[in-house]
Amino acid sequence: MTAPATPASPPVYLDYNATAPLRPEARDAVWEVLSGTAGNAGSAHSFGYHARDLVDGARRRLAEVLNCMPGEIIFTSGATEANNLALRAAVVGGRQLMVSAVEHPAVLETARAIDPTSPVVPVNRDGNLDIEGLQSLLRQRPHGSCVLSVMTANNETGVLIDLPTVSLLARQYGALLHTDATQCVGRLPVNVDDPAVDMLSLSAHKFGGPQGIGALFLRRTTPLQQTPLLHGGGQERGWRSGTLNVAGVVGLGAAAEAAARQLPEESVRVGGHRDYLEDVLRSTLDDIHVVGGTSRRLPGVSAVTFRGAPADAVLAAMPGVAASQGSACSRGAPEPSHVLLAMERSVDEAEQTVRFSLGHDTTRDDIDRACVNIVDAVHRVRRAVCRTAGLKALEVAGTQ
Ligand code: PMP
Repeated sequence: MTAPATPASPPVYLDYNATAPLRPEARDAVWEVLSGTAGNAGSAHSFGYHARDLVDGARRRLAEVLNCMPGEIIFTSGATEANNLALRAAVVGGRQLMVSAVEHPAVLETARAIDPTSPVVPVNRDGNLDIEGLQSLLRQRPHGSCVLSVMTANNETGVLIDLPTVSLLARQYGALLHTDATQCVGRLPVNVDDPAVDMLSLSAHKFGGPQGIGALFLRRTTPLQQTPLLHGGGQERGWRSGTLNVAGVVGLGAAAEAAARQLPEESVRVGGHRDYLEDVLRSTLDDIHVVGGTSRRLPGVSAVTFRGAPADAVLAAMPGVAASQGSACSRGAPEPSHVLLAMERSVDEAEQTVRFSLGHDTTRDDIDRACVNIVDAVHRVRRAVCRTAGLKALEVAGTQ
């Protein structure tokens, strides 16, 4: 295969699930804080009070988006920390943690660290949770002794988990419910009362806020013992010590508000671009499959299996498109995606799947340009794979 050509125009960014570009509202808000005179939000003077006001405003904005009270929000460094904080607190008192098989490593690895025997609830080929399996696990334990962590939408496939049913089951069996809503906030409406959850994690950079800032919603009435991961000055009502990242918090609030305001129009537009991408690929390439394509999905996500074309080679062959193979967070890990394996895909299929994720700045022209690159890359990789297989067959024939 020839080395990939250097793209003439900037690459098309189709990796919003790894991180989304900063929204202008967030950029302006962050810049205003960084270039102004906000002090430490814990300081008892005018600079500190100003910082405190800014943080309170952002907290109110996020609370409005999630339909909760400002005092139910703990700012963290991101969803990884929010997930860790939630699960560590939830298991105090001996509650049994149960997680879905397609959780992000920030939940799966935390569950493993807390209790390596935590039950893992499977999903089917379409990425939908095995509800009967979950119910039977809950039935085996005393009422009120479990905590479930089930994501709102999957980061690799965009498949939306049936959270309303999970929430009903949690209520029926007295289980606490945590949801990792990192990929859903700002992309589809998220309301902590519908479906009802006890805890919810999010990360600003997935919806156009800055990286390194996130939040955990903790329902006020949920009986949780405070179990901070970080000890120190007792910020965030003792849940999360450390000087507040005022610029980050303000950027998060601005991005959450802008995303929520633009969501009705944006989700339809982004969903239209995603469907167009899939239509073009299906009509131009043989032997492709959209993972979870028949399930309810986030509007901007498309995980496509290009049979006979390893995803790493496809990505390398299209420098004009920024996409990814599974989750960016586990990049470098040699294992095939645990999400795709959980969805009963073979190792080959998992390794031939590319995730495209679109978002607020994606245009129709981006998709047209991306499709040209993708189709060309898949053709070239498939040809190279065939050539290599042919040469191998000749070699084997020659040695016989
Ligand atoms: N959960 C999900 C579903 C995610 O997609 C991510 C980011 N890929 C995280 C958690 C972790 O977020 P962060 O890296 O911002 O902490």
